[in-house]
Amino acid sequence: MATDYYQVLGVSHDASDAEIKQAYRRMARKYHPDIAGKQYEDKFQEINNAYSVLSDPKKKQMYDAGIDPNSPGAASASQAGDAFGGFGDIFSDIFGGGFGAQHQGPLPRQQHGRDSLAHLTISLKDAVFGGVKNLSINTYGICPTCHGSGSADNSQPIQCPVCHGTGYQQRVSRTLLGQMVSSEPCERCGGYGTIIQHPCPQCNGHGRIQTRRSIGVKIPAGIHDQTRIRLASQGEVGEGGGAAGDLYVDVTVAPDPHFTRHNDDLHCWITVPMTWAALGHSAQVSTLDGPTSITIPQGTQPEDTVKVKGKGATKLNQGSERGNLIVHIQVSIPKNLNRQQMSKLKDFAQSVEPADDKVLAQKGEPTTHHKGFFGKIRDAFQNS
Ligand SMILES: [Zn+2]
Ligand SMILES: [Zn+2]
Repeated sequence: MATDYYQVLGVSHDASDAEIKQAYRRMARKYHPDIAGKQYEDKFQEINNAYSVLSDPKKKQMYDAGIDPNSPGAASASQAGDAFGGFGDIFSDIFGGGFGAQHQGPLPRQQHGRDSLAHLTISLKDAVFGGVKNLSINTYGICPTCHGSGSADNSQPIQCPVCHGTGYQQRVSRTLLGQMVSSEPCERCGGYGTIIQHPCPQCNGHGRIQTRRSIGVKIPAGIHDQTRIRLASQGEVGEGGGAAGDLYVDVTVAPDPHFTRHNDDLHCWITVPMTWAALGHSAQVSTLDGPTSITIPQGTQPEDTVKVKGKGATKLNQGSERGNLIVHIQVSIPKNLNRQQMSKLKDFAQSVEPADDKVLAQKGEPTTHHKGFFGKIRDAFQNS
């Protein structure tokens, strides 16, 4: 079978109906294109397909027996009409009623607020050490004048005289096919079945107003680039002052001019004179914790690395444990030697090289000392 629907929802094959429903809610929330962005439309569709099968006992049975009810050949075996039967409930629950929900009777005045999405860019230092960052968002907040009731004088809404509280009006129209009766939301009350006699002037009876709010977002130490943080009940307040949805914050870590992060290690590059590499030397490098001294060992080759223990990124959710700072050494060869230097270097050359050996070992790929950054990283992976 092409798609493992259980895997799509992230549940085991013996998951209960409740677990499946819960997993679906979580995934649908996370990947809904309104929240996650347009690039997740396919993923969202896949999640819906999985749930349409696993939430339907007949289809689930078929699927467990090895037939995918969503595949074209299996279409006759299921009723197309009920493919999305269970979705209205869940979406109205998640998105505050906008989603094909079948309303029986009037709309509740108080509705659950929608989730919202915000973006936050932090520095590498913030990502390594964590902390609280302020984020300013435009959102719906509860109306401070009426505290969500929507009424200027705090009186209870009265029954709508047009629809008598049903929220719906029946409209009869004559067509070629005869008389058609349709049911539409009541124009007078907007489908609520009730009317606020003296609407609050600040929110026009909605119980919420658009507002700009500053929120402290707790950044966990060691957070990775492109991480989504969920802040419960920090999204939009609903109509009628209903409970707020959740706020999702997409965190981007800005590139740093001095360090590159790879997993929990930080990498930096320094260039040292040839003589330091040959003779050994101490050098000062900056870390996110301040300057520190390193030793460049005698005989250091270009692309060799020096490890500064514990000065890398914090390991996410592992207390204060940190990775290392890996200092990559580049060696500069002197360009403009004066006569005296040239002469000394020639003396040195004669002392280490046979006079006329022009035949060098030749290989089709770099030797270990010249693999460069990613080659070293790969080695480090294989050895760990
Ligand atoms: Zn108000
Ligand atoms: Zn009405």
